[in-house]
Amino acid sequence: MSFRRMLKGASGRSLSAKQPESDEQSKEITVHPETNNPTRVWDTIRYKQKVDVVTPVDPATPKPKDHVRFVCISDTHSKTDRIPDIPDGDVLIHAGDFTKICRRKEVKNFNDFLGHTRFVCTSDTFSKTTYLSKVVPPGDVFIHAGSFNNVGLPREVSAFNEFLGTLPHRHKIVIAGNHELTFDQQLMTERNSHVFMSFASAFEGLKTNEWKDIRSLLTNCTYLEDSEIQVMGFRIYGSPWQPVFCDWGFNLPRGQPLLDKWNKIPEGTDILITHGPPLGHGDLASNGCRAGCVELLSTVQRRVRPKYHVFGHIHEGYGVTTDGQTTFVNAAICDVHYRPCNPPIVFDLPTPRVPTVEAESSV
Ligand SMILES: [Zn+2]
Repeated sequence: MSFRRMLKGASGRSLSAKQPESDEQSKEITVHPETNNPTRVWDTIRYKQKVDVVTPVDPATPKPKDHVRFVCISDTHSKTDRIPDIPDGDVLIHAGDFTKICRRKEVKNFNDFLGHTRFVCTSDTFSKTTYLSKVVPPGDVFIHAGSFNNVGLPREVSAFNEFLGTLPHRHKIVIAGNHELTFDQQLMTERNSHVFMSFASAFEGLKTNEWKDIRSLLTNCTYLEDSEIQVMGFRIYGSPWQPVFCDWGFNLPRGQPLLDKWNKIPEGTDILITHGPPLGHGDLASNGCRAGCVELLSTVQRRVRPKYHVFGHIHEGYGVTTDGQTTFVNAAICDVHYRPCNPPIVFDLPTPRVPTVEAESSV
């Protein structure tokens, strides 16, 4: 209710402007004789009231130990799609007017907003962070399905990490793709890849300790490599491997070598992130060939059955498809000419449980 409407209800009756001293100090509250004229009442009592302005806690500051953080919002009037990202906290308070006219649909949408986790998916961005910073919408979990830079030089990785630090998402999950050459430790050790050799000058002077521990540069996200994380009650698994493609990073021959990697994906995974697509979903290359992995499709459909499978790699396969069981998201931001032109792909899932800050490993 607006302040203007509150004033409309004032009766304007001329009564004693001041209550007796004894009444004001008593713990037994009685109705003020001028209760309908709050402005006048305030004028009479303000000389002994204290109203100091308090600067709220900056949500970016860490919560002090043994504290509970309350996050307060109000008067959102069904504008949930335009609410800036709600900061981390333990208790969310909404002080009313969450709809416009309280239609059933508004209430349902608001309930969905409270109980859903928003995932924002990207892939194949090749250091185009200026474009990304303009198009990445707010959400709860930011996903990058690999090839976030060109060849994995430390300065590229650091710049990407810096960009991640500017994102408001509560969780940021990243896997490597074929362009993250330095993340492929075997390739860096053997140095016999054609691609590596063609970029030899770029890697000249790169010390072993700079690529051995290249992952440590990604401090603003969770990096997954044949590994799993649980966030907000979702089991998320990430893997960088793809079928042999011009001798880039994390390439493996089709068949058993790739199936060995897919066999590590646990059943019960809710969201699977791989750099390459499975066969038949977002994998149609511009030359008319299907680039997806047959065994990855079989693993997704017959064993793991995730709710979502997020990937990239085949830029021209950008988009979303489903087989009725799993939704497949090719989130390649760049087109086949490496021009950034696609927006991130967003999906919402009902949150399995109320998230707690302490119980999760998140960045
Ligand atoms: Zn790729």
